[in-house]
Parts: sequence; C-alpha cells; structure tokens
Amino acid sequence: MPTIQTDPHITTALTGASTTPYWLDSVELPDPQPPLRGHTTADLVIVGGGFTGLWTALQAVEQDEAQDESQDAASGRARHIVLLEGTETGWAASGRNGGFCSASLTHGVANGIHHFPDEAARLNELGLANLDAIQETVARLGIDCDFERTGEISLAFEDWQVEQLKKADDPAHGYHYLDADEVRDHIHAAGALGGLLDERNNALLHPAKLVLGLRRVLLEKGVEIHEHSLVKDLREVESGTAVAVETDLGSVTAPAVALATNVFPSLLKKVALHTVPVYDYALMTQPLTDAQLDAVGWAGREGLDDVTNRFHYFRLTADNRILWGGWDAVYHFGKKVLPKYDQRPETFETLAGQFYAMFPQLDGTSPEAVDGGVVFSNKWGGAIDTCSRFFPFFTTAFHGRVAYTAGFTGLGVGASRFAGRVMLDLLSGERTELTELAMVKKLPKPFPPEPVAWLGVRLMTKALVKADQNEGRRGPFLKVMDALKMGFDS
Ligand SMILES: Cc1cc2nc3c(=O)[nH]c(=O)nc-3n(C[C@H](O)[C@H](O)[C@H](O)COP(=O)(O)OP(=O)(O)OC[C@H]3O[C@@H](n4cnc5c(N)ncnc54)[C@H](O)[C@@H]3O)c2cc1C
Repeated sequence: MPTIQTDPHITTALTGASTTPYWLDSVELPDPQPPLRGHTTADLVIVGGGFTGLWTALQAVEQDEAQDESQDAASGRARHIVLLEGTETGWAASGRNGGFCSASLTHGVANGIHHFPDEAARLNELGLANLDAIQETVARLGIDCDFERTGEISLAFEDWQVEQLKKADDPAHGYHYLDADEVRDHIHAAGALGGLLDERNNALLHPAKLVLGLRRVLLEKGVEIHEHSLVKDLREVESGTAVAVETDLGSVTAPAVALATNVFPSLLKKVALHTVPVYDYALMTQPLTDAQLDAVGWAGREGLDDVTNRFHYFRLTADNRILWGGWDAVYHFGKKVLPKYDQRPETFETLAGQFYAMFPQLDGTSPEAVDGGVVFSNKWGGAIDTCSRFFPFFTTAFHGRVAYTAGFTGLGVGASRFAGRVMLDLLSGERTELTELAMVKKLPKPFPPEPVAWLGVRLMTKALVKADQNEGRRGPFLKVMDALKMGFDS
C-alpha cells in the first residue's frame, strides 16, 4: 500500500456519510411480515432470514417442485415451510456485506488444501457449481440484484507479494498473473506492482436486492415468513419425533428445523464456542463521473483486493460508486454483538486515507484530482461469524431433527446457498455426497472461553500485522496456530 495520508480533509470527506449500509439505504424496504403468534405446525422451520435461511427455504421449495414434476402428478405434497426472523430479513450481515459472491467454499483454495487436502479439489468444483447455480437462479426467477460475473483481481504492492502471485499463475484454471503494465489495463491503482486475475470464481451483486428478491419469491411460493420473531428456545416434543421452536408470542412444531443464525448466539449450546464475532467495516463513495471512471480505468469492473493479511476489498456498484472495505478486524471482549459497534470512526478515517492514497485521482485535495474528487456517501460495519478454520461448519442435534451451520468468516454470500443445501441433506436423514464430506462431518476447533479468547485474538492480530511487515513471513506464534489449524480472520 502507498503511504497513508492523515490530512483533516479526510474527516470532512466522511462527515456527511450516512451510517446505514449503502445497500439497505438504496432499496425500498417492504413492510415487515407479521410476527408469529400462537401455536402452529410445519414440515420445516428455518430460523434466520439472512442469505443462509433464505437459500435454505428456496432450495427446499425447489426440491418439492422438482419432485412434483418427476411424479407427474400432485401426489408429492409441498412442504409447509415457516421461516422465523428475529428482526427483519437481511438487516444483518446479508444486507451489509461487500457483495463479493465467491465460488470458494473454503475461504480460498490454499485454506481448503490446508484443512482438507484430499477433498479440496472436489470442494472447488462444488463451489463453482454453486456460483453457477446462483447465477442461473437469479436469472430464472427475475431477481434484479445487479449480478455481474466479473472475476476478481488480487493486487500486489510489494515485491514479495508479486512473487507470491506469480506462483499462482495457472491459465488452464483461469488464473492469470498480470505485471504492472497489465494491471494498469484493468485498474489505475497507485503503487500496484502486479496482480492475479481469477476470471471464474467471483461475481458481484447488490446484496440487499438479492435478499429482498429471495424474500419476494419465497412469499409468492407460499413460504410463511414471520419477522420480529426471535426464537428463544428449542424443545423436543411428541416423543422425540418433532421439535417445538419457541418465540415470545408463539411456537411452531416441526419434524425438521434448520438454524441459520450466523454470528448471533447459537440455539445449540454445543457450538457456542465455535465462532467469535469480528467486526469488519466499509465505505461507499458517491457515484463517479464519467471522467473519474476514465481516470481509474476500471473497464472490466472486476472485484479487487490486496494480498496482505489485513486486506482491502473494493468494487464498483451498478451506478459506479466504489465500495472500499476491510483492513481492521475488531473483536470485542465477551463475544459481544452490539449495534454501537457498527460505527468505528477511527477505522473509517484509516480506510478513507488508504482509499485516497490508492486513488489520488479521486482525492479532492490532490493535484491529480479529477472533477473535484469524490467523498463518501455511507460508512458502516457489521459482525462476521469467524470460526477457526474460516469456512462454514455443520452439526445436527435433537436426533438429526435440527441442523445448524455457521462460520462463514467473511465469505458467506455464495457459500450460504451451499450451506443451505447441506442442511437440507442432513435433515433428510439420507447419506448424500454432501453429508459425507469431511468438511461437513468435521467441526473446526472451538475458541477458548474468555479471557483467553480475547487474549488469543489480540496476539493473533499482532502476529498477522507483523507478518505483513516482514514480507509475509509467519512468526513462531502463527506457525504454532497453523499447525493446530487455529486461526483468526474477518
Ligand atoms: C461488513 C461485512 C462485509 C462482508 N463482505 C462479504 C463479501 O463481500 N462477500 C462474502 O461472501 N461475504 C461477506 N461477508 C459475510 C457475509 O455477509 C455473511 O457470511 C452472510 O451474509 C451470512 O449470511 P447468514 O444468513 O448466515 O447470516 P445473517 O445475514 O447474519 O443472518 C442471520 C439472521 O438470523 C437472525 N437470527 C439470529 N438469531 C435468531 C433467533 N434466535 N431467532 C430468529 N432469528 C435469528 C438474525 O436476525 C439475522 O437476520 C461480509 C460480512 C460483513 C459483516
């Protein structure tokens, strides 16, 4: 990264920014669905109205539709599905992310190989098929979510990073090393020395539009959605053949329950220590003018990132704003998830300074400024469900009647659909390719309880910063944690 500016104009550039995530600010939010009241029954209950819950519901509906068609009659009965959301659909991570929809199910190819060497290649295939299926689904169902299959470029700003990216060059699998001049054909980012274009494995989308599109389709297909219906407890009933899912005002009894509650306190005690909430932050600019767009030269509109441990992710929106996020990963003692943590002025200032350092052509105080530069329209953050292996894990409870997934660690926009499919397979009681994956069968290592968790996260954060300053070389602490397959990331 180029040297960061600390000019007071950065504060001014952030002053008028809305504290609502841009995506939720730029859609018309529907009236909430009524809360659950009284007692009812269902064939499938889904808890959580983010991407994971919504994709689980949609795939269940589609399984039933496919069964009906194959039986060529109305003999197959569509399941009665109830989805319970504690607040409003998409308000949490699913409405406030970067909108990078990655094929990776394992937080990158290398991390997949590190954890499941024998399975990594198959997981990559399943991930790519999952991304293709998302693309096909949004087109088929007419969900306008600004879906663009742009690919992604990782940028290097140090020589040692260039060497790393050169090693990943693999045109047969769609990975192309770009030298500094070739990078300039894709983006005019100050100080970029090289890049790796991954042409297949990433799409960009408007997450709130996708959430609302899925919600609309589910309602049209007869799924019963209740918002402001926080689930407080699960209870085995009917001699263990069903589970009662209880909210303050009502309950639903069903033989199958999928828990898609992400970073929020788990309804299953046995996985309470398997995730920690890590806060990640993002800025959105005002729309760029045509001249500013020319000046950044982002013709291919790829999703971009840089390759340090503390990385940035950045991208264009459909109306040519730039989303710029990442860098700080903040953990609060006691695993707290609180609305006040969604704002962090010091991180916003750091991010804004880094943004202008990379794009001086957009910095109103720079001699290179085009059309007076841009300022920021939105600044926000959100909690990420980090697990120690950085990709989703699964478990079941109540004799297989409840399935659970979490642990997406900053890469759940695409993987949430796959996780929904896995939960449905687990609940079916059948052995399928997905239920037999080691990724599905094996839980990551839990984090220790407080205060050790807090101390461990601090040590890990410091060690990652040090590795970035030391040409990527991992010190003894990181090496031990790698050997233990324990990590911390956002
Ligand atoms: C700032 C930020 C940037 C990110 N950027 C990216 C990105 O660019 N690409 C990417 O792939 N991923 C990204 N992620 C991660 C991604 O957004 C998540 O992995 C994904 O949205 C997870 O979806 P989900 O449905 O599991 O969780 P959520 O969207 O958090 O939904 C869970 C829902 O469950 C509800 N709930 C919880 N407990 C209960 C209960 N007891 N009863 C009823 N309802 C309950 C909550 O209210 C919530 O609505 C980012 C995350 C953040 C915060």
